[in-house]
Amino acid sequence: MTKRQLWILRIGIAASLLVFLLLRSFSRPQKTKRPISLESPTKIVMNTIARIVAVAPDEKTAKLSIDAAFEKIYRLETLMNRYDPSSQLSQVNLLAAKQPVKVDKDLFDILQQSVYYSKKTGGAFDITVGPLVDLWKKCAEANSMPADKQLEEIKKKIGFQRLLLDSNDFSVRFVAEGMKLDLGAIAKGYAADKAVNEMKKCGAVAGLVEIGGQIGCFGLTEEKNKWIVGIRNPAKQKDNRIIDKIAVSNMAVSTSGDYERFYKVADMRFSHIFNPKAEKSANELTSVTIIAPNGTEADVLATAVSVLGAEKGLDLIEKTEDTEAILIKTGSSEIIKSSGAEQYLAK
Ligand code: ADP
Ligand code: MG
Repeated sequence: MTKRQLWILRIGIAASLLVFLLLRSFSRPQKTKRPISLESPTKIVMNTIARIVAVAPDEKTAKLSIDAAFEKIYRLETLMNRYDPSSQLSQVNLLAAKQPVKVDKDLFDILQQSVYYSKKTGGAFDITVGPLVDLWKKCAEANSMPADKQLEEIKKKIGFQRLLLDSNDFSVRFVAEGMKLDLGAIAKGYAADKAVNEMKKCGAVAGLVEIGGQIGCFGLTEEKNKWIVGIRNPAKQKDNRIIDKIAVSNMAVSTSGDYERFYKVADMRFSHIFNPKAEKSANELTSVTIIAPNGTEADVLATAVSVLGAEKGLDLIEKTEDTEAILIKTGSSEIIKSSGAEQYLAK
């Protein structure tokens, strides 16, 4: 056989092999199974209601990712619940004015992020509000307004600058006696982020985690790349009416408001969100929804904008990248939106 004939033979064999492979791949039935979607029952965590939806290639993976996400949320609650005397945060609140208290990495991380956001929001968000929250609780129980003297006293116990974090040994120290940290305005968003991470690690291709108004979601498939989240009308709580719908994925949505949790003193309603620098509750906005790249930021900014009010709050949102806000003023039905919020409204 000549060299030329040998080459023709080689090319012939290669071509028939290619045709054979092509035919085989076309004739074979396609094995693309559609992912399934599984929704957890609602659970009470972090003093609120939580639910998770997982989209995964099969039911086992979906269930696994829901279980892992809830396990993470429960673990974080155990660390961060200041109303549970055995939590690490309670240990910090009890001892940190006397000595540095070493904490777990997750708790240290959330404390560090809290200080970062206090600086970013000019102190509108501040986890050292604990003593103010406690005072208002007592006042609501006794149905009497806080006295000026009590508020003066509290000033000395509030301020993130009085919280010292040592990243060498993950320890926490208070500068003043009587300080108390309260993670109520960040823990749910932070936990939603961590839960989303767990779900991805377990093989979920899309998912939604909702912890009392804080929503984290992701979607990596063609079928499920957007989640629709409703914003409730604060004036129509009983009918659960929706004023707007947002379509998001790989984003977080957080709503803070004074319509679900508040204090009632002398027949007046006071928001459970406080202005840490004025020792007053924040009453300008009845509902603040933030859309942000992650749950921690969405949760924190919803609280901070509630404190700052519409004007300063929107300024902060416009300055913060990839973040939008939808606000409703107290006693008004007008909806105020940041410049890019429209793109997220579901059609
Ligand atoms: P919700 O718990 O309804 O989602 P927030 O995320 O705004 O609302 O959290 C409010 C809680 O955070 C309050 O109940 C209180 O424990 C705490 N808190 C109140 N005001 C502030 C503030 N300015 N900065 C940080 N935490 C706050
Ligand atoms: Mg918040």
